[in-house]
Amino acid sequence: VPTERIRNLSIIAHIDHGKSTLADRLIQATDAVGSRDMKEQLLDNMDLERERGITIKLQAVRLNYVHPADGLLYAINLIDTPGHVDFSYEVSRSLMACEGALLVVDATQGVEAQTLANTYIAMENNLEIIPVINKIDMHSAEPDRVIREVEEVVGIDCSNAVLASAKAGIGIEEILSNIVEFIPPPQEKATESLRALIFDSAYDAYRGVIVYFRVMDGVIKKGSKVRFMATGRDFEVDEIGVLSPRMVPVSELSCGEVGYLVAGIKTVEDARVGDTITNVRLPATEALPGYEEAKPMVFSGVFPSDASQFNALKDALQKLKLNDAALSFEAENSSAMGFGFRCGFLGLLHLDVVQERLEREYDLDIITTAPSVVYRVKPTKGDAYLVDNPADLPDPNRREYIEEPYVRLEVITPEEFVGPIMELSQSRRGEFVDMRFLVQGRTTLVYDLPLAELVTDFFDCIKSRSKGYASMEYTLSGYRKNKLVKMDVCVNGELIEPLSCILHEDNAYDIGKDLTKKLKEIIPRAQFKIPIQAMIGARVVASSTISALRTDVLAKCYGGDISRKRKLLDKQKKGKKRLRAFGKVNMPQEAFMAIVAVD
Ligand code: GDP
Ligand code: MG
Repeated sequence: VPTERIRNLSIIAHIDHGKSTLADRLIQATDAVGSRDMKEQLLDNMDLERERGITIKLQAVRLNYVHPADGLLYAINLIDTPGHVDFSYEVSRSLMACEGALLVVDATQGVEAQTLANTYIAMENNLEIIPVINKIDMHSAEPDRVIREVEEVVGIDCSNAVLASAKAGIGIEEILSNIVEFIPPPQEKATESLRALIFDSAYDAYRGVIVYFRVMDGVIKKGSKVRFMATGRDFEVDEIGVLSPRMVPVSELSCGEVGYLVAGIKTVEDARVGDTITNVRLPATEALPGYEEAKPMVFSGVFPSDASQFNALKDALQKLKLNDAALSFEAENSSAMGFGFRCGFLGLLHLDVVQERLEREYDLDIITTAPSVVYRVKPTKGDAYLVDNPADLPDPNRREYIEEPYVRLEVITPEEFVGPIMELSQSRRGEFVDMRFLVQGRTTLVYDLPLAELVTDFFDCIKSRSKGYASMEYTLSGYRKNKLVKMDVCVNGELIEPLSCILHEDNAYDIGKDLTKKLKEIIPRAQFKIPIQAMIGARVVASSTISALRTDVLAKCYGGDISRKRKLLDKQKKGKKRLRAFGKVNMPQEAFMAIVAVD
C-alpha cells in the first residue's frame, strides 16, 4: 500500500465509553480476523484486563479496508491506548504515532475528564479528530446534547461526527469511510536515517521482546542493525512485520508504516516505550521528542506469606518486569516482615494488577504493605533525599523538614455534586484553585492536592459521592513542604513497622482513631485481649482493644457437623492464607491496606 493510502489512528475515550467494543467492531468489519478467532475485545489481551474492562498494554492492528468511493485498498493502523489515569503516559506515546484519532463519547454520559485530557493530548500532537457518539442504541442516549457538549467543551468541529453503536454495529461503515476521508496520510520524508517511535513493547517467552513501532523517517529493514537511542543499545533485526492482527513478516517498513520487530531483546527495559529506533550505519542525530521514563509514584512492600517463597517471588517479579518497564523492585529486609521487595508502581491500579498477577499467574501467596508516595526529606546534616518507605524516615530531631508530592486535580461533575466533592477535596487537604462552568449543568473543579491523599481511595469516594457521575484527571505538579509526621502502630505491644505511615500532623488524631477502629474489625480475635495503639513518637494518639474470645463462643465454633467443618477447612486450605504472624497475633492482608480505606 502506498503511503498516501495509510492511515494511522488511535481511539481515545473516557473509560467505559466503548473504545474496546468499537475496536472489535472495526476489526470485524474489515475482517482482519476470522470471526472464529474473534475473541471479545481482541486488543485487550490479558485476562485481567478483560475482567476489569481496562486496557493496560496498548497494541496495534492493521485493518485492510477497501473504500467504496474509489474501490482502492487502504491500510488503517489502529493503535490502542490504555484507558486509565495510572497509564496516561502511554496514551501520549501512542498518539504521537498517529495522524488522527477517533474520539469516542458515550451518548448517555457526555464529556468526561479523560475525554478532555486525551483530546488535549491529541490536539497537542495536531491530530485530526473524528468524534464518534457511541451507544446511540440505548434509551437514555442523548446524541444531540452530547454533540453540543463536544463542540462547546472540547471545542472541536462535529460536522463529521458519527452517531454509532459499537454494540449494535451502527455507524461502522461511516466511521471507516470518515477515517479515509478526514485523517491525513503520513507525510513522506526523504531522509536517509531511520527514526521510528516505540509505542509499545511486550515480552514473549519464545521470541523475546516484540517491539511495536511507527516509522517516522526513513526505512527499517530485516537484517539491519538498529540502535535504541535512549538506552544506547544495538540489536540486529531478525524479523519485522505488520499486525493483521497476527504477525505477518515483511522485508521492510518505510515512513508512515506501523509494525513490529523481533531482535533477540531480552527485556522491555531495553526497548522502552517512547524511545527512538535508528540505524547503526547511519544514525539519526536527534531522537524523536518526548521520551521520558515512566516513574513509579507509589511504593509498597511485597512479601511472601511464607518465607520459603522468597525466591519464587523474586523470579515472578523478574518475569513481570520483562513486560512492564514501569514496575520497579529491589530486595528489602524488614525486621517485621522478613525478606521481600520494595516495589514501585504507577498508581494503585498498577499495584493491584501486579498483586493479582503474582497470585494468579505465579500462584504466590503474598502480603503487600501500606502504599506510600515518595517524600523528600531534608536531614539536619547533608542534602535532601527521597524516601519511599516510612521506615526509612530519620527521627524528628535529625530532620529539618519533609516535602510531599502534589497533583493538580480536575474533577468534572454534575452541578448537584459540587458541594460533596468540594467537601471531600477539602477533607483531603485539597487547596481550591478554580471552579469553571463546563456546560449546562456541569462543572469543572480544580484543586491542588497531596498525591498521598489521592492514592488512597479518593477515586472511589469521588464516584460514590457523585453516584458515579463525576470523573477525574490529575498531573503531578511538584513538591511542597508540610507539617508531616510519622505514625506508628502497635498491636499487642509490638510495633508493626509495615503499618507505619507518613501523614499531616493535623490529621493524625482522626486517622489514628479511624485506623485503630478499622484494625479492630480486621484482626481476628484471639483467646486474649489485643490492644491496638496509634502513636507519634512515644505519644499514643488513638487506641482500641480487641476483646478476647469467650470460651462459649469457642465451644460453638468447635461443635456442629463434622463433615461441614471439614469442607470449610479444606476450602480455607486451598484459599490463600495472606496472613502474617506478629508475636501471637495474626495480621491478615487487609490490615496492611487499612490505611488506604481510612476516611
Ligand atoms: P472501554 O473502557 O472504552 O474500552 O469500553 P468497552 O468497550 O469495554 O465498553 C464498556 C461497556 O459498554 C461494555 O459493557 C460494552 O458492552 C458497553 N458498550 C460499548 N459500546 C456500546 C454500545 O454501542 N451500546 C451499548 N448499549 N453498550 C455498549
Ligand atoms: Mg477497553
